[in-house]
Amino acid sequence: LRGVSHTYQVRRSPFRKSVPLRAVDDVSLCVHRGEVLGLVGESGCGKSTLSKILLGLLPPSSGEVLIDGAAVSGAGQAAFARRVQPVFQDPYSSLNPRKTVAQIIGLPLAVHGVGDRAGRRQAVTAMLDCVGLPRRVLDTYPKQLSGGQRQRVAIARALIMRPEVVVCDEPTSALDVSVQAQILNLLTELRRELNLGMLMISHNLAVIEHMATWIAVMYLGRIVESGPTRAIFERPRHPYTRALLQSVLTTVPGHGIPDPLPGTAIPNPVDRPAGCAFHPRCPLATDLCRSVPPSRVADARQGGFVECHLFPAGEAEAA
Ligand code: SF4
Ligand code: MG
Repeated sequence: LRGVSHTYQVRRSPFRKSVPLRAVDDVSLCVHRGEVLGLVGESGCGKSTLSKILLGLLPPSSGEVLIDGAAVSGAGQAAFARRVQPVFQDPYSSLNPRKTVAQIIGLPLAVHGVGDRAGRRQAVTAMLDCVGLPRRVLDTYPKQLSGGQRQRVAIARALIMRPEVVVCDEPTSALDVSVQAQILNLLTELRRELNLGMLMISHNLAVIEHMATWIAVMYLGRIVESGPTRAIFERPRHPYTRALLQSVLTTVPGHGIPDPLPGTAIPNPVDRPAGCAFHPRCPLATDLCRSVPPSRVADARQGGFVECHLFPAGEAEAA
């Protein structure tokens, strides 16, 4: 994604004029083959909008989506969508209850007119092996499967088109803790075997730390800090990243991100605060923060960047 923004028109009541909501604001991100990019942030920060853009389900209002360096737009959009596939959060609602496992996994092939019936059945069977499901589930319905099995079906459906990138939006948060690790291990195996790029969206920082090579932290539509996973966890710089990590240290594992800054509500994105959008919640905010948006400062040493006045250009590396 290069400089991608997306603005919705929203109405706060039926009687008022619609106002723009900038859900995604000038986001540049790269998902590399064989690597996992972890995207974290509280709900409502724009993660889902960003994943829809990456999946080709939503055209950006501005900016570009590129794959292998070539911009995707118009006619290229359909081909692109085949190369990027989703695994959604809730395997209970994302699988059609009236279709068999074979029909569900084979649907993308049928939609794109790949192979004949027998060929598709064969491809589906091979994919079952790939995701560790027994062949006997082929003609069963989702309700006959466990949560973990359903998520394996969803993963098989995502992979049947041989995508290069998989977008996993909270892939385990609807599952029992004991099953979560199995699904994460499966995703890791598949990533290695198929050299997949992954965008992993999660509330659960333990999941992100375990899976991601690179992390992007999102707040009110902007990526406020990004960097290699180890660096973000060991030396978080943006006050918001620090608050997120801090809040996790004080919670029960598996319960995701609690309010990282108790007592301070996330501002409504329609009324985006002036200056640094994080200033109403930031313990370190100054007058400068309240009026001037911080610029993006690249970190030459470890890669990535941070957007915060505490790190003026040239000082991010020293921090
Ligand atoms: Fe806090 Fe200011 Fe940095 Fe924003 S720019 S995160 S308000 S210190
Ligand atoms: Mg969401």
